[in-house]
Amino acid sequence: MRCGVDIGGTNTIIGIVDDKGKIIDSDCLKTGKYESAADLTVTIAYSILRMAKVNQASIESIGVGCPNINPGNGRIEKAANLNFKEAVSLRDEFLKYFPDTPLFFENDARAATIGESVYGSAKGLKNFILVTLGTGLGCGIMHEGQLLEGELGMAGEVGHAIIHPGGRRCGCGRQGCLEQYVAANGILATYRETCLRNGEQARAEDYHALAELARQGDSTALQAYREAGTTLGIALANMACFSSPSHIFLFGGVAQAGEPLMAPAREAFEKNLLFCYQGRIRLEFSGLMHSARNAGILGAAALYRR
Ligand SMILES: [Zn+2]
Repeated sequence: MRCGVDIGGTNTIIGIVDDKGKIIDSDCLKTGKYESAADLTVTIAYSILRMAKVNQASIESIGVGCPNINPGNGRIEKAANLNFKEAVSLRDEFLKYFPDTPLFFENDARAATIGESVYGSAKGLKNFILVTLGTGLGCGIMHEGQLLEGELGMAGEVGHAIIHPGGRRCGCGRQGCLEQYVAANGILATYRETCLRNGEQARAEDYHALAELARQGDSTALQAYREAGTTLGIALANMACFSSPSHIFLFGGVAQAGEPLMAPAREAFEKNLLFCYQGRIRLEFSGLMHSARNAGILGAAALYRR
């Protein structure tokens, strides 16, 4: 069996998967509770060993999806959404517990992109982009059937494309990055600013509460999603110019807001696309949207196929 580990800004999800892509067992940790990569890894290792024992499974490989990781050497540097900012080799940490198991590392968004192409809506597609919207904005670019890596193994960091020079402060240390406007905390910040402008009391403490307000039809919350969707649509129209995809898929906890985000995103996307792409690129939700948890595990577990 294969093991997939998806380290996200909020949750770390671990699972073991059989040859048919069925998740046999899984576990979830709160990433923010761990102050160092060593602390997080020992807990992940314990979880994998426990699942392997309970299910009498032999683990043939471990795939790890993680923000800001270098797929070549398994090093993380300055991950914007993780507690540990120091440069650290996750590969070395995993080797302490799994010296004889093949290990594969990939940026979490690019792992999800492989998961989408193996198990989701992108089966058979050669040119597509997957955008994950959660704590941050991640992106995987599949081009001619190959996942773009780039010189440093870090292609697709468009969440940190600066769209408002001098704008909101970002976890990466710069200002005005895309994810500060369209990922969870960005939409929350927009909601709070809108409340302030309207002279109304903000009713959402965190992103989770904001998503609930939007579900209940709160007009200020919906306005925040509308603004985020419009910004996202323009950003996606710009991204289309880089690789000319046939599809762009949205994935992740924030994408689960659904149409309040997607409707303005589609409108702004189509309106701002370069004429030659208009009406020819499909913007859709990921086929694995119904279970972000499963998608994260499957994407990481599928890394051995690369
Ligand atoms: Zn940034």
